[in-house]
Amino acid sequence: MEEPVRVRATEVTIDGPITVRDLAERMGLSGTELIKSLIRLGIVANLNQVLDPESARVAVTEMGVKVHEVERAEGQGAARPEDRIEDEEGAVPRPPVVTVMGHVDHGKTSLLDAIRQTNVTAGEAGGITQHIGASTVDWQGKRIVFLDTPGHEAFTAMRARGARVTDIAVLVVAADDGVMPQTIEAINHARAAKVPIIVALNKIDKPNALPDRVKKQLQEHGLTPEEWGGETIVVPVSAKERTGINDLLDIIILVAEMGELKANPDRRARGIIIETRLDKGLGPVASVLVQSGTLRIGDPFVAGTAFGRVRAMVDDKGNRVEEAGPSTPVEVVGFDELPEAGDLFQGLADDKMAREIASQRDLKKREQELGTRATATLADFLSHIREGEKRQLNLVLKADVQGSLEALKQSFEKLEEPEVGIDIIHTGVGGVTESDVNLAKASEAMIIAFNVTPDASARQAAEREKVEIRTYRVIYEAIGDVKAAIKGLRAPTFREVVQGHAEVRELFRIPKVGTIAGCYVTDGKITRRSRIRVVRDGIIVQDTSIASLKHFKDDVREIAAGFECGIGLENFQDIKEGDVLEAFTVEEVRP
Ligand code: GDP
Repeated sequence: MEEPVRVRATEVTIDGPITVRDLAERMGLSGTELIKSLIRLGIVANLNQVLDPESARVAVTEMGVKVHEVERAEGQGAARPEDRIEDEEGAVPRPPVVTVMGHVDHGKTSLLDAIRQTNVTAGEAGGITQHIGASTVDWQGKRIVFLDTPGHEAFTAMRARGARVTDIAVLVVAADDGVMPQTIEAINHARAAKVPIIVALNKIDKPNALPDRVKKQLQEHGLTPEEWGGETIVVPVSAKERTGINDLLDIIILVAEMGELKANPDRRARGIIIETRLDKGLGPVASVLVQSGTLRIGDPFVAGTAFGRVRAMVDDKGNRVEEAGPSTPVEVVGFDELPEAGDLFQGLADDKMAREIASQRDLKKREQELGTRATATLADFLSHIREGEKRQLNLVLKADVQGSLEALKQSFEKLEEPEVGIDIIHTGVGGVTESDVNLAKASEAMIIAFNVTPDASARQAAEREKVEIRTYRVIYEAIGDVKAAIKGLRAPTFREVVQGHAEVRELFRIPKVGTIAGCYVTDGKITRRSRIRVVRDGIIVQDTSIASLKHFKDDVREIAAGFECGIGLENFQDIKEGDVLEAFTVEEVRP
């Protein structure tokens, strides 16, 4: 089991690039403790290594420690604490993000439509808009971002998840209906978030509109109109007749300027997921509201338990864009899975870190969902079925190529039976890693490795956590085993027992004999009768047996860890330096 991180500080300040040593000191940890924790997050660093602020921030947050944002002097209300960030020097004004709230049927949707229309007539593009969860409106040379989902429910759902998206709330109140229950809720929600409120007094065109009555109601709820000596700006509008819209936009710009909204575009992007969808062709796609920094094509990122690399971006007008700065909504292609609306989006320095952080989070989430229970082995599973306890076989599939994964997945899914389900909780291309083992552990899954092997740390973790990893080279054998498990039949099976590993360090081409690999046995042993798998970057490139095994000039029957040897392989000359030879035997397992 992972030992908990013993962090003594509950909050640290990160005000720029920081060395591992300094960060450890600020966190009240020893250097070694921090290095260990960083390794778990996929960051391999030594004491003197400098971490960029984003990486440090994410790492610290992952360890459950709050990052203290250095605040500047209080602004005029609208700016949120996280905008008053450390790199004040590089901060430049950014457009406000606005949410429209109000009671049902008071005209929120109509108002948003009217606002977008304003821009179409004034703007360049032909009015073709792409629904990406937010719309940008250019007004008097300034930009305003409107969230497309009106109402305080979405707003608060995001807030509940720690996401703060909105700078300004436009409260729509129908002049013929007045303050209603949801109007009051909206007021309270906006207040709780300390977001300034602008009232749009809508349906002013209606003959039965009673603006003064509404203003009085607003005053009763603490929103005293300016003209009555208060601080609330009330703008009479008609979404239907498109009157007063310009005034409303002017006021939004004014309030935004008073709020001194700023963000630094010259850093890695940070933002919020505002919408997600699964596209048939593009896969998981999510709209991101970039809040600070700049997101560019090719940037690695993590968002909740999802991660990826920006493959393409589309703005709200349907244009492909290369980069997105602060307060820009963009739809991003390149997620490995769908994130959730409200998830924090963070651009990172490298893919590996994004992947590791996402998998750590995923693991944590699963652990929370499942509690930590014992892990299934095929044998356990069989006995459980017999006792009628368990009805689900959880699998983690790893393979060398996407095609094999798909084939395995489809074949396994066909094996499902009414009483026994198969849940493929994770699939991935590449060798089995420690995080796969952790995932399997947390979700009581078995790992099926097709044409790939576990790396050293995964092997150790699997042994420690008693997670079963089954390696296959032939699809129908994998299917056969899983089928047997499902059926509760314990077919006589053969099991591979790994004996040891050797690293290829040098190659010798010997005429008439072929290639001899100069190897160093790193663990276990290698025997003359071992079967050998040649593993290159975690992928099995050949499965064969030993043709010759020598220690210096002598033929030997076996070589132990820590010794060098020369190995010739049967029918395989294409060995490369750095290949790992995995020695194993095949044993029959009797029920
Ligand atoms: P929402 O539920 O707040 O999004 O309200 P909608 O935008 O769907 O509007 C509800 C109804 O009010 C619709 O029938 C609109 O046509 C009508 N409506 C919206 N704005 C106005 C307005 O300014 N004047 C009039 N007369 N009707 C409006």
